[in-house]
Amino acid sequence: MTTLRDILDGPGPSFSFEFFPPRTDAGARSLWSSIRRIEPLAPSFVSVTYGAGGSSRDRTVEVTKRIAAETTLRPVAHLTAVGHSTAELRRIIGQYADAGVRDILVLRGDPPGDPNAPWVPHPGGFTHAHELVRLVKESGRFSVGVAAFPERHPRSPDWESDIRHFAAKCAAGADYALTQMFFHVEDYLRLRDRAAAAGCDTPIIPEIMPATDVRQISRFAELSGASFPEELAHRLQAAREDPAQGHRIGVAHATAMAHRLLAEGAPGLHYITLNRSPATLEIHRAVLASLPSLPSPATPPALAPQP
Ligand code: FAD
Repeated sequence: MTTLRDILDGPGPSFSFEFFPPRTDAGARSLWSSIRRIEPLAPSFVSVTYGAGGSSRDRTVEVTKRIAAETTLRPVAHLTAVGHSTAELRRIIGQYADAGVRDILVLRGDPPGDPNAPWVPHPGGFTHAHELVRLVKESGRFSVGVAAFPERHPRSPDWESDIRHFAAKCAAGADYALTQMFFHVEDYLRLRDRAAAAGCDTPIIPEIMPATDVRQISRFAELSGASFPEELAHRLQAAREDPAQGHRIGVAHATAMAHRLLAEGAPGLHYITLNRSPATLEIHRAVLASLPSLPSPATPPALAPQP
């Protein structure tokens, strides 16, 4: 079976989309409508994030298994170590194996409730992501992805330790990495150079986040630590009462980033969809239009208005 690393090592960039497990019936309808719009594009994979705790975690497993069973898409299940014993993690990994899901994005996770609270490992679990990478790799023929941070992990005291720990995840068996969201292409390029200088040749796929609403900005910064370009923030602020204009500004910025990242040799693009497809589909179409040598996917259905 073709692995994700085979795809990333092959010709042309990979394209992928990220979803989160919905909390409500309306959320589930929005998610599945987005999945069905994206399916004809034949992306390299789609990923489903893992909740901070409780029932959202079960929903991640359900959604991922359903994508594997009912669509032509290749699902990547996010899995975090936080709050789980090793035995629980083994059980979840086994559920994926049984469902034919062979791709797992391994993360440590953050303390539930307050991501900035002190990290307390589960007494029977893991402290850092590289330990879970090893467990997944020992558990079967899984392709494993890990996280990378263009502005370094918020808890890393310096770049040297951040890259050393990233390289440890690669050495533990990571096949590729996905970045945290970021808004300055140079941050990605510097991360890639630092990883290469540390002897790590794991492909690092940048995440593309269309920032279309100024109200999202402080939330992004709080959750990811990503710094937001001032000029973009001002333009979105000016379009605060005009969602269509905010949409155009966010899509244009993300599209320009996507073009530049591919021109700089990024191995692919991973779009954050927030379970809504219009902005990401617009960016993706513009990117495909600039890559005429790629096989052209089926035309996706007409766009629904952005909720
Ligand atoms: P680690 O690699 O363990 O790193 C965490 C910190 O510990 C870093 O500062 C690192 O330098 C340090 N460290 C690592 N190893 C050592 C060591 N041996 N000794 C000392 N320090 C060490 N969260 C979710 O809850 N669900 C999701 O679905 C999810 N998806 C994500 C997807 C992506 C692409 C990204 C980038 C993040 C995602 N997150 C998700 C958030 C992630 O769980 C947090 O950012 C978490 O704080 C870091 O996870 P990690 O896997 O990088 O941890």
